[in-house]
Amino acid sequence: MVFLFVGMPSFVFATEVERKILVEIEIGKISDFIRLQEMNIDIVSRQLTPKVQAIVSRRELERLGEQDFKIHILIENLIKRFKEEIDTDGNLGKYHTYSEMVEELHKAAAMYPHITQLVDIGDSWEKWKGIADRDIWAIKISDNPYIEEEEEPDVLIVGCHHARELISVEIPLAIIRVLTSRYSFDPRIKYLVNNREIWVVPMLNPDGHVYVEEVYPMWRKNRNTNGYTDPAYQGVDLNRNYSFQWGYDDIGSSPYPWSQIYRGLAPFSEPETQAIKQLVETHNFVVSLSYHSYGNLFLFPWGYIDEDTEDHAIFERLGQIYCHNNGYVYGNAKDGVIYNTNGDMNDWIYGEQEVKNKCFGITIEVGDCFQPPSSEVPKLIQENLVPALWMIFLARWLPPTPIPDIRVNGWVPYEVPVHQGPLFYLESYEVFSMPVSGLPAGTYTLYFGVDTVMDGDVTWDSLYYDNVVVNVTE
Ligand SMILES: [Zn+2]
Repeated sequence: MVFLFVGMPSFVFATEVERKILVEIEIGKISDFIRLQEMNIDIVSRQLTPKVQAIVSRRELERLGEQDFKIHILIENLIKRFKEEIDTDGNLGKYHTYSEMVEELHKAAAMYPHITQLVDIGDSWEKWKGIADRDIWAIKISDNPYIEEEEEPDVLIVGCHHARELISVEIPLAIIRVLTSRYSFDPRIKYLVNNREIWVVPMLNPDGHVYVEEVYPMWRKNRNTNGYTDPAYQGVDLNRNYSFQWGYDDIGSSPYPWSQIYRGLAPFSEPETQAIKQLVETHNFVVSLSYHSYGNLFLFPWGYIDEDTEDHAIFERLGQIYCHNNGYVYGNAKDGVIYNTNGDMNDWIYGEQEVKNKCFGITIEVGDCFQPPSSEVPKLIQENLVPALWMIFLARWLPPTPIPDIRVNGWVPYEVPVHQGPLFYLESYEVFSMPVSGLPAGTYTLYFGVDTVMDGDVTWDSLYYDNVVVNVTE
């Protein structure tokens, strides 16, 4: 039965040689973290203190012990656990494989051709080299999807810079599903799709993802060989390869190919990041959501230094709204909850303002554990879906006007005939017949926003139209 052995994936041998362990390491001060980086420890969480999670071998575990790090073992055998809790069916369980993702995008485009455009935005590294045939797919969701409607704000949603962060594919796919499948009967969704141009790239790193599926479940980077045959020296961290402050220091990214945060030989050296560059430079994105895992975090620039941007108040307001119901923590590197990164998508999409406009770049670190079991996927989607729709909704005010608190043009807010119900469920004629007593005759534009003053619960039902023209007659 020789063929059985031929089909055996190589990680079977890897586990026997080198077991991978998920550990929690206590971080007392920043120098502890830098020591971990110098030891080339594979850090999987984004928080800086009080502890980080990391994937280590037996040898690394021993070395950490010798260096007096306080370590707790969380998972003894990650690959065994991956098989038992995630890859339950040999097909990633509830998570999408690359081919399932491609199939789902094609289905969505075929079922909803009037509101979607499926676009191949570039090749993976292995396709670039003629080794594999994987494209990077984007789907644009909007009315008139083949026309660039300048007055509609553009929103970008990206998943899977990092191969092993499987949940980061699922949230973008869920956003696609809700925007397409509810369009015909949900006026809230219809409003968003008709008034925004939403681009979703669910899997930026297809080579890495397939490597996770077939060979090594803990792979993070892309599959650039860097000229080596040993996988330990391969891969570029796509989220350190963007040009803005690329290689600013060797803490936020690494010049060494063996590092998990290797930034590549040059800014945009990788075809995957080039695909995003090309897409962003040819559109006017005003807000972007880049999904990662994990940490229950909503992160914004700057990442490369411990400083706030000039738009800090707006970023914080967006964070307040995104995190209001799911309890995620919002902040940037200056807040001290996360470690520095340089050359990431957030800093570039916001900071690069010469060849493209400023875009409010946000990174979401989904969930509170590394590779949550298949069964937790629906919960993680649920806690991110509505907040993501809020961000799409808010794109209208980003920039130049900050998110408004006042919802009625030229009218004192307290005199607004506040509609207490879920306005979005109403058809337009009902909006027009809402009570507007006390106003002199005339035409008014009512601006309905989210509860940006945060004095009430932000719920799905309080997603309002942002602009309704009302005619008041004698
Ligand atoms: Zn990531």
